[in-house]
Amino acid sequence: MVDASEIEPKLDKPVIAVSRCLLGEPVRYDGQARPVSWIIDVLSQHCEFLPVCPELEAGFGVPRPCIRLQQKGSAISVVLVDHPDEDKTKALKAACERLLAGIQNADGLILKARSPSCGVVDTPVFNEAGVALGIGAGLFTSMCRAARPGFPIVDEQLLATEAGRVGFLIQVFRYCCRRRS
Ligand code: SF4
Repeated sequence: MVDASEIEPKLDKPVIAVSRCLLGEPVRYDGQARPVSWIIDVLSQHCEFLPVCPELEAGFGVPRPCIRLQQKGSAISVVLVDHPDEDKTKALKAACERLLAGIQNADGLILKARSPSCGVVDTPVFNEAGVALGIGAGLFTSMCRAARPGFPIVDEQLLATEAGRVGFLIQVFRYCCRRRS
C-alpha cells in the first residue's frame, strides 16, 4: 500500500517574521512582553516564525530608555523621550538593515502596534517640544515598505478580528506562492 505522504509534495510552511514581544518574549523597554495567544497557539501551527526586535538588535538593552519618533521639517528621527538631544536614529537604522537582510525569505510580517520601531499605522510622531503632531509608521516598518513593496505587513490589532486574520493570511499565502514559483 502506498503511503500518501510519499507521493504528495511536501509544501513548506509560509514564513512570517513576528515582533518578539508578541511571541511572549520580555523584550520591551520596560522588560514586559505583549503575548498574543492566536499568534502563539494557532498561527504557529501553520507558519514558521522569524522573531525580530529592532531595539534589541540595536543593542539598546532590556530594560531601556523609552524612545519616540520626532519630526523636524520632513525628516523623522528617533530620540530618547527623556533626553531628546540623544539621537538613536543611526543605531536603529543599522539594526533594521540587518533584520531586513535576515527576513529576506519571509512571506509576511506581524509587528507591534504603536511602537516607534514596529508600529504599522499608529505610532505617535512628536515635534521637538514633545507635542504630538500625528501618527505614522515606525522606523522598521517604513524601511520594510521601502525595501519590499507589496510585502504583507500587519499589526496585532488588525489580527484581533477574523476578517483581519483572513485578509492577512490570504496576502501571505499569495506572496509565498509568488516567491516560490
Ligand atoms: S515593539 Fe518591536 S522593538 Fe519594541 S519590544 Fe516589541 S519587537 Fe522589540
